[in-house]
Amino acid sequence: MKKDHKHTALESLASLCKRRGFIFQSSEIYGGINGFWDYGPLGSELKRNIRDHWWKTMVTSREDVVGLDASIIMHPRVWEASGHLGGFADPMVDCKDCKKRYKADGLCEEQGKELVKTEKGYEIPEGIVCTACGSNNLTEPREFNLMFKTYVGPVEDESAVAYLRPETAQGIFAQFANVVSTSRQKVPFGIAQIGKAFRNEINPRNYTFRSREFEQMELEFFIKPGTDEEWHAYWVNERLKWYEEIGLPAESLHKDVHPKEKLAHYASACTDVAYDFPFGRQELEGIAARGNFDLSQHQKFSGKSMEYFDQETNEKFVPHVVEPSAGVDRIALAVLCNAYAEEWIPKGDTEGGVIPAEPGAKRPPEGYEARTVLRFKPRIAPIKVAVFPLLKNKPELVAKAREVFDATRENWSTFWDQTGAIGRRYRRQDEIGTPFGVTVDFDTLEDDTVTVRERDSMQQQRISVSELQSYLRDAIA
Ligand code: ATP
Repeated sequence: MKKDHKHTALESLASLCKRRGFIFQSSEIYGGINGFWDYGPLGSELKRNIRDHWWKTMVTSREDVVGLDASIIMHPRVWEASGHLGGFADPMVDCKDCKKRYKADGLCEEQGKELVKTEKGYEIPEGIVCTACGSNNLTEPREFNLMFKTYVGPVEDESAVAYLRPETAQGIFAQFANVVSTSRQKVPFGIAQIGKAFRNEINPRNYTFRSREFEQMELEFFIKPGTDEEWHAYWVNERLKWYEEIGLPAESLHKDVHPKEKLAHYASACTDVAYDFPFGRQELEGIAARGNFDLSQHQKFSGKSMEYFDQETNEKFVPHVVEPSAGVDRIALAVLCNAYAEEWIPKGDTEGGVIPAEPGAKRPPEGYEARTVLRFKPRIAPIKVAVFPLLKNKPELVAKAREVFDATRENWSTFWDQTGAIGRRYRRQDEIGTPFGVTVDFDTLEDDTVTVRERDSMQQQRISVSELQSYLRDAIA
């Protein structure tokens, strides 16, 4: 089968991510485990930068949002109240011939049809076949709960059953009353949380896009009933701005508005922020106006009041909530896809600018060389600066470069590289997306200036060592 260019782009990216230490298969030495991924030295920095920027934007830079770090395993009643025990299920079908298992709605959609909802459950429409072997010998769709089950304590009986959280949000709802009474926040205000979530997805796929263990960044923004629409619009707008701040271009981002008839019964609006991945337009984040469903459910199941008393108006109410809920891994994947480029750059004195590499071409034209580059926005780049002594066997150059390196890494993640020709060193940094390279050469020893080379334009300029940190500060911000 001929692969289309889009899939080879994702494969090239995945191979770069493995080769340079962004993403590894979990437990690779044992053959891996489907739906789980590990982030290497660069991937963990990338994710940290995404999380940090989210936390800064959503929590520390605001007066009306506070943070929370709730446990992953909670009382099982939480999941009864939230509806996850009863309803958090995907219909799945198996091929009776080759045993492949599918998410039923996904299989139908791929073949241009829609899974039929019946009174008893679901039905596969006529003509749907197994995409692996072509057989139409499929099982009836069966509901499959996506929560991972475990046992708390030494006895593995029903009373010890607990679940790994399938979302971070319920930790926030369950602690709503404690946060209200300790934080002095007044409605409207939000509680934010970043943490791992687990879903036993039937079909993990598209690299890290759909995994069984992933990380969420969720805000529950509590509001006065009746202000749902305006706050929902506000958060959709805020969140779109944030995606641009981490470098995703406006034209690759989309607002997918869920039609009213497809909303959950308690929700009044839901808009997804979607990104154009190489495998199609897919959700990065869902922003939902959920009414007071979650708090009321916890009030009902726990018997504890979730009412809020508004001192200004003397009113008592269960607040409504707007929830922007995003996935760190999906965002990291979008950022990687967006940053990845293969291009041909003019060698030495060759005139002319950079050209995108021709897909499938073995080598660049005469006078050009190939480079792979990750064009991360500086604030998201895992390594911000690389420092190079021009020659490694000149102690005075190395000592001076070391001084620059030490001063720089006080402020940013900085990489030291003294081996190979300077062009090769630039290329290695381009490939991991380092936005700035600083070279210490013989002129540095004379006039205390260094060469700063910018990754995308490849422009170089001399900057005095005393101004380097403030130059980098401006450029990175
Ligand atoms: P999907 O329809 O893709 O399964 P969802 O609508 O169930 O996603 P939500 O429950 O709204 O997702 O979760 C909020 C966010 O958490 C998603 O926008 C996504 O970024 C992230 N997320 C959800 N499931 C996964 C997963 N299996 N792998 C990685 N990230 C996920």
